[in-house]
Amino acid sequence: MMTRLNDKKTSILIVEDDPMQAETLRLGLDYCGYRVVATISHGEEALERVQALAPDLVLMDILLAGKMDGIEAAQKIHEACDIPVLYLTAYADDEFFRRARVTEPYAFMLKPCSTREIQLAIETALYRHKTERSARATLEQAVTERTAELVQARNRIASILESISDAFVSLDASWHYTYVNAKAGELFGRKQEALIGKHIWSEFPESVGQPFYHACHKAMAQQTPIEMEEYYPPWQRWLENRIQPSKEGLSIFFHDITERKRSEQALRESERYNRMLFECLPTGLALCRMDGTLVDINQAFASMLGRSIEETLPLSYWDITPAKYAEQEQLQLANLNASGRYGPYEKEYLHKEGHLVPVVLSGRIIEKDGERYIWSSVKDITERKQSGEQIQHQLEMLQALYSGAHKLSESLDFSGIAHSVTQLCVEVLGVQLAWLGRAEADGSVSLLAQYPAENTYPRRISVRWDESPLGQGSTGRAIREGAPVFSTEISKDKKFSPWLDMALQEGFHSSAAFPLISRGKAFGTLNLYSPVAGFFTPERVELFQALAHQAAAALVNIALYDEIRAYTRELEQRVADRTADLVAINQELEAYSYSVSHDLRAPLRAIQGFAQALEEDYGAKLGATGADYIQRIVDSAQRMDTLIQDLLAYSQLTRADIQLNPVNMAAVVREALAQLDREIKQSGATITAAPSLSAVMAHAPTLTQIISNLLGNAIKFVPSGRLPEIKIWTEERGERIRLWVEDNGIGIAPEHQARIFHVFERLHGVENYPGTGIGLAIVCKGAERMGGEAGVESNVGNGSRFWVELDKPSGAKNP
Ligand code: ADP
Repeated sequence: MMTRLNDKKTSILIVEDDPMQAETLRLGLDYCGYRVVATISHGEEALERVQALAPDLVLMDILLAGKMDGIEAAQKIHEACDIPVLYLTAYADDEFFRRARVTEPYAFMLKPCSTREIQLAIETALYRHKTERSARATLEQAVTERTAELVQARNRIASILESISDAFVSLDASWHYTYVNAKAGELFGRKQEALIGKHIWSEFPESVGQPFYHACHKAMAQQTPIEMEEYYPPWQRWLENRIQPSKEGLSIFFHDITERKRSEQALRESERYNRMLFECLPTGLALCRMDGTLVDINQAFASMLGRSIEETLPLSYWDITPAKYAEQEQLQLANLNASGRYGPYEKEYLHKEGHLVPVVLSGRIIEKDGERYIWSSVKDITERKQSGEQIQHQLEMLQALYSGAHKLSESLDFSGIAHSVTQLCVEVLGVQLAWLGRAEADGSVSLLAQYPAENTYPRRISVRWDESPLGQGSTGRAIREGAPVFSTEISKDKKFSPWLDMALQEGFHSSAAFPLISRGKAFGTLNLYSPVAGFFTPERVELFQALAHQAAAALVNIALYDEIRAYTRELEQRVADRTADLVAINQELEAYSYSVSHDLRAPLRAIQGFAQALEEDYGAKLGATGADYIQRIVDSAQRMDTLIQDLLAYSQLTRADIQLNPVNMAAVVREALAQLDREIKQSGATITAAPSLSAVMAHAPTLTQIISNLLGNAIKFVPSGRLPEIKIWTEERGERIRLWVEDNGIGIAPEHQARIFHVFERLHGVENYPGTGIGLAIVCKGAERMGGEAGVESNVGNGSRFWVELDKPSGAKNP
C-alpha cells in the first residue's frame, strides 16, 4: 500500500461513464487512501459538482456518453476553477491531444492502467498543481506590486510633464493624442482633455505639409529622434520641437523660443548694421594684432592705399608705414600700451603707386576672445593739406594784390596805374598777357595799357563793345554785361574765333575779361590771357574781379583828380585875371581919388575965396539977406570940403599899405583926444579912460582915426541939454583885445545897428546932427584892414557902446 502523502485525505471526483471502470477506480483510489467525493458519468454535470464539492483533483474520462465529452468538461472546469484534471483515456490520436492541451491537463493516462500508476500520476499532478499555484501567487504578487509601481511612475511622469515649462504631447501610431500636458493645452489654446484621442492633423490641419509635419512622419517612419526649430506662422512664434519616436507612437516636446529667436535676430541685425557701418564709413577703420598684422579693414582704409580689401589684408601695418615714421610709431605704440589709446596724430601711408598719403589716425586697444588688438580710425587728409597749401597760396596772392592795390591807391598818375595793374596781373598773379581797354563812345575799345609792353597782340587785334561780331568776345560782353566773361579753352569757344589764330600763335589757351565799373557802368575791361587751359578757376575769377574793381576805382579817382586839377588851374587863372582887373580898377580909383582931392577941392576953394571977397567988398550993399546967402554958400562949400576929405580918407584906407605893429593904446587914445580938444571943450564932455589900456597889433594912424571918429560921434549924438559922458577901456578876449567907447547919448535902435557902418548911412538929419555918414565906415574898414572887427551894443535912449577888436601884439599874448 502506498504511503499517504498527508493526513487530510485527498478528495477526488471521478468522471467516468462506465460504471464498472468507475467502481474499479474508486476502489483502487480508496485503497490508496484517497477520498472519492463523487463519481459522475456526464460531462454536463462535472462543472456543477466540482464547484459544489471542490475536490482536490478530477479524474476525467475523455469519451463520455452525452453531449459533452471529457475535454469540453475539463475546459469548463479549467476556466472556472483552479483544480487539476487528469485524463483517462482508452486511446489517443493527434486531434485529441491538440484539443486536450488547451485545458492544460496535468497528465494523460492510457487505460488500462494500474492503481500504482494512477496514484503516481495523482501525486505528481497534485504536487505540480501546488507548486504552480504557489508560483502563480508569487507571480501575481509581483505583478500587483509592479503595476502599483508603474502607476506611481506614470503619475510621477505625468506630474513632471505637467510641471515642465515645455509643452508636451504624446501620439499613438495612428496620430491620435494620448497625452497633452497643461502647457501644450495653453500653447494650442485648447483644453487638454478635449485633445486626447483626437487626430493631430485633423485638429491642426494648417500644420500639414509644414516642416514639422514632415519631421513627425520621418521620426515615426525611421524611428529616429528629430530636433528642429521652426517658425509657426499661425501662432507667430518660434518653436523648438524635440520629436521622440517609440513603438506606441511619438512623444513631442515643444519649447517656445520666440524670445530667444528675437534676441538672436536683434543681435544679428545689430551685427549686420555694425558691419554695414564699418564697411560704408568714409573713415578708414582697421583692426590689427599687436604685432601689426591686419585682421579686418574697411573699404575706406583699403582705398586710401589704392588697393582692394583683399590686396590689403595680407599686408602688415609696417608694410604701409614709411620707414621714416618708425621712431614715431614706437612712441605711439608705447603710448598705446601705457594708456590703452593713441593719437590722434599725423603721419603718412605708402600708397600702392608709391606716393605718400597724409593721414591722421587715432585708436585704442580692444580685447577680443582673450587676445589684444589695435583698433584704428584713419582719415585721409590729402585734401585738407592741399587746401591748406591752396589757402597759403591764395593768401600770398591776396598779400600781393593788397600791396599792389595799395600802390594803385597811392599813385596819382592814370597811365601809371593802368601799367601797374597789368604788371601785377602778369608778375604776381601769373597770367601771360594783360591789357586794359577803354570803351569808346563809337563802340570801339581802345588800348589804355598792357604788360608785357613788347607783346604786340593787343595792338594787332581789333575789339569792339557794340553788338557787331567783334563785340561778341569776352571784352565786348564783359563791358555790355558788367560781369566777368572767360574762356577756359579758347579753341573750344566759338565766340573767340575772330582772334583765335593770333591767340594760339601767342600760346594762349584761356582768356578772361573783367569789367572796370564806375557808378554801375563798365567803362572798360581788364583783359587777361593764360597758356594754361582752365586757368580761370572761380577763385581766380573772384580775385581778378576784385583787382579790376580796385583798378577801376583808382582809375576813376585819378580821372576825377585830373579833372579837379584842371578845374583848379582854371580857377587860378580866373582869380589872376580878376586880380589884374581889380588892380586896374584900383589904379583908376586912385586916379579918381586924386582928381577928387585936388580937382574938386580947387573950385571949392575958389567958391570959398570969392564968397569971402563978396562979403568983404559988397557985404554992406547986399544987406542981411545977402549976408545970409553968402554965409550959406560958405557953409555948403565947407561941408562939401569935409565930405571930400572924408571920402578921400576912406578911399585911402581901402587902398593904402597898412603895416601892423604893437601899438600902445593909451598913446593912441591921447592923440585922438588931442585932435578933438576943441569939440570936447565946446560940448563940456567928460571923457574917462581906464588907467591901463592893453596894447594891440595895429596901424597907429588908422587906429587913431578910428578912436577919433568914435569919440566924435559920442560927443555929437547926445540929446540937447545933456552933457556927454564917455568912458574908454580895453577888455581881453582870448587872443584879442577889445576897445570899448561908451557914451550916454541918444542910442541906436537895434534894426539900424548894422547899416550905420556903411558909407553915407545916417539916422538923422544934418540940421540936428551934422555929419557925412562916413565916420563909422572908416571905423569898420580900418578895423578890417588891421585884421580885426568893429561893432556896437545899444538901445534907443540908453547910450551906445562901440567896440573895436584887434589882435594882441605877438609875444604879449599873456600880459
Ligand atoms: P556922421 O557922424 O558923419 O553922421 P557916422 O558914419 O559917423 O556919420 O555915423 C553914422 C550915423 O550913425 C550917424 O549919423 C548917427 O545917426 C549914428 N551914430 C553914430 N554914432 C552914434 C552915437 N554915438 N550915438 C548915436 N548915434 C550914432
